[in-house]
Parts: sequence; structure tokens; C-alpha cells
Amino acid sequence: MFEVTVIGGGVMGAATAFFLARDFGAAVTIVERDPSYARASSSLSLSSIRQQFSQPVNMALSRWSLGFLRRAADELAVADDRPSLGLVEPGYLYLATAAGEPALRDAHAVQVAEGVDVALLSPAALAARFPWLAVDDLALGSLGLSGEGWFDGPALHRAFRRKAIACGARFIAAEAVGFDTAGDHIAAVRCTDGSRIGGEAFVIATGAWSAPLGDALGVALPVRARKRDVFVLATPAALPDCPLVIDPGGAWFRTEGSLILAGGPPRGDDADDLPLDDIDHGLFDAWLWPTLAARVPALEALRVRSAWAGYYEMNTFDHNGLAGRLPGWANAFTACGFSGHGMQQSPAVGWSMARLIAGRDAPLIEALTPQRLRDGRPLREANVI
Ligand SMILES: Cc1cc2nc3c(=O)[nH]c(=O)nc-3n(C[C@H](O)[C@H](O)[C@H](O)COP(=O)(O)OP(=O)(O)OC[C@H]3O[C@@H](n4cnc5c(N)ncnc54)[C@H](O)[C@@H]3O)c2cc1C
Repeated sequence: MFEVTVIGGGVMGAATAFFLARDFGAAVTIVERDPSYARASSSLSLSSIRQQFSQPVNMALSRWSLGFLRRAADELAVADDRPSLGLVEPGYLYLATAAGEPALRDAHAVQVAEGVDVALLSPAALAARFPWLAVDDLALGSLGLSGEGWFDGPALHRAFRRKAIACGARFIAAEAVGFDTAGDHIAAVRCTDGSRIGGEAFVIATGAWSAPLGDALGVALPVRARKRDVFVLATPAALPDCPLVIDPGGAWFRTEGSLILAGGPPRGDDADDLPLDDIDHGLFDAWLWPTLAARVPALEALRVRSAWAGYYEMNTFDHNGLAGRLPGWANAFTACGFSGHGMQQSPAVGWSMARLIAGRDAPLIEALTPQRLRDGRPLREANVI
């Protein structure tokens, strides 16, 4: 039987393991150092899905994944247990002032050419559709009409794990630290407890912590742990049909039941490895709340119910996932560095990684090959939230 060892049991590793086991009958071992997944990005994700990217590869990956999410209860059922992912599709709404209008129109042209169901709305059309939105300073909005929204990401992660196990994969609790190699082949993963795990193919799917394992193979993976805060807000305001709104300055918000989730990009240095328990409440008071209240006057009245932070696994080279064979290695692969859009892409990436490892074609992830690091060919994603 074809044996594959996947390092990292987050949503990328679990999805890859599931498709390898189900579609190719591979014997998959997943090496995960923290079976509680407490700090994994997959546990701390906002789990939203969009088609409004600047790169066609990201539109295609999200489109494929959306189809999978819609059928996930069937695809990932284990006996009678059908996972419920709570997928809703209210869209994303990108807002632009006059300064941002050309970029929004350029992105729109690429998206329409790729078949994305998206519409440009004037300030008057925005006000008519979303009466709770302040539009005076806006020039344009771009609204996803279908295929965009959010779902329960940790439930998807759990469902991939359970279904992978049901298909024969085994998870072991260990921390990978290096490799035994022979020529351009990896023979085994070495773990901190002294154990060695062999296999015919190896996948680095260790999210924000992928660089040290890349270094162990002489491949510099430019993936860094960048903290992002998410604020959970209670408000008496009702925002009917609220999409995920991205303000011109990068602040974003969406509903979650009767609550609002909100956040934004870092205002200063985007430093590596900031502690996850250090939520920036000062930034919320000084910038985020005033920004939200200016865009939605009803949000003047709100309470911070709670907050959490997680790491984006930021690919500092071009803000896109690295998915494919590692340059210089015959049997080493990676799926990492998805820069804050990996949850939504995990079905398509897992499916494609499994195909690639099994020697099939994997056109959906061709553009994400790590070879582009060696070639100095960045594939820059402009729409990183
Ligand atoms: C606040 C926030 C909001 C987000 N919002 C969205 C969104 O709206 N939409 C979207 O698509 N994506 C979003 N993301 C991004 C998404 O969550 C990630 O892209 C995705 O979860 C990455 O999955 P992963 O499996 O690569 O990494 P992880 O989930 O981090 O998994 C990596 C695993 O590897 C393990 N590991 C690390 N090193 C080792 C080692 N040496 N040995 C063994 N195990 C190891 C870790 O313990 C971890 O469990 C968001 C992320 C955050 C933090």
C-alpha cells in the first residue's frame, strides 16, 4: 500500500489525508504535535469564503471548495453522522472611495472574466440595498451575489479528521523536528521523542510553523506567524442581509447570529509570533470602533463581548498558498502559507494535493507550486483581508 506521512493535522493536513485515503487507498499517518489544536489557525479562523480575489487561481480554488462545502454532509458523513457546517452565502462587500475605485474596477474585470457572480454598486444602490450603511464618502461597492459567505471552519476540520480516520488514516501525537534523507529522497521524519516515521511521500502541512521543517530540507519557506485579532460584538442594531463588509481602510465586519465579528489589518509593524493572549483592545477603541461606527452609525452602540486571536500563516513572498512538490526533492511536498484564506481553500487544495502525490494531474494548484520561490516568480494576491 502507498504510504504517506503528513506533518500537521490542521485543516490542510487533514483534508490532504482524507482525499489520499479515500480516493487513492493510501495508508496515511498524520503527525500532529498538539491534538487539542488550541493554537492551530484552523481552530481560530473566521471561516469565510469568497470569490473576490485578484488571482484566478484563488477564485478557482474557492469555487471548487464551495461546491464541496455544499455537499459536505454527504462527502464527509461517517455512518449516520452527517457534519453540519452551517454554510450561509450572504456575500462579501468590498467598499471603495474614489482613490480605490480603479483597483476595484480592475479586480471586477478579472472576476467577471473568471465567471464570478459579482456586481458593482453605486453609492445610491448600496444605500438602497443596505439602508444601515453610510455611503457619503464612497465611490463604489463590489458585492458577491452568490458563492460567498461563511461556515463553521472548526466543524469542517473535525469532519475531515473523522472521515480520514474512517478511511484508514491514523493520527499520532508527536512533534516533527527533521528528516532522514538519501539523495533527493526523504526516508523518514524524525520526531522530538526520538521516533522515526517512514513513508514513500511526505507532506509539510504545519501552517504558520512550516519554515523550520523547510529549513531542515534546505528550502526556505517564507511563512510567518502573524497575529490577527477578532472582536465579538453585541449590539442592539439589526443589520438585515449583512454581507462580510470590507471598509476602504481594511476594517471588516460580518454577523454571526445576533452578534457581530470584526477586525482589521495591523496598524503598525506586522511582527512575527506575537503572543495570542495579547489582544489589542487599544486598537479597537482608537481605530476599529470609530471606523465601524462611521460606516454603520447604529454600531455607535456596541459592547465587546469577547475577543480571540490566531495566526495567519503569512507567505511573505506573495501572500498565496504554497502547494506542491518541494524543489529539489522527489518525494517531499507542502501545503502551507495560505495567508488567511486557507480554510475556504482546504477542500480543493486537499483534493489536488492527494492527486499530485498519487501521480495524477492537479491543475487547480499548478500556479501555487513552491518552485516559484526558486524561480523568483511571485504570484501576488492583492485582496488579502
Ligand atoms: C483570525 C483568523 C481568521 C481567518 N479567517 C479566515 C477566513 O475567513 N477564511 C479562510 O479561508 N481562512 C481564514 N483564516 C486562515 C485559515 O484559518 C488558515 O489558512 C488555515 O486554517 C490553515 O490551516 P493549516 O492546516 O495550514 O494550519 P493550522 O491549522 O495552523 O495547522 C497546522 C498544524 O501543524 C501542527 N504543527 C506545527 N508544527 C508541527 C511540527 N513540527 N510537528 C507536528 N505538528 C506540527 C500545529 O500544531 C497545527 O495543528 C483565518 C485565520 C485566522 C487566524
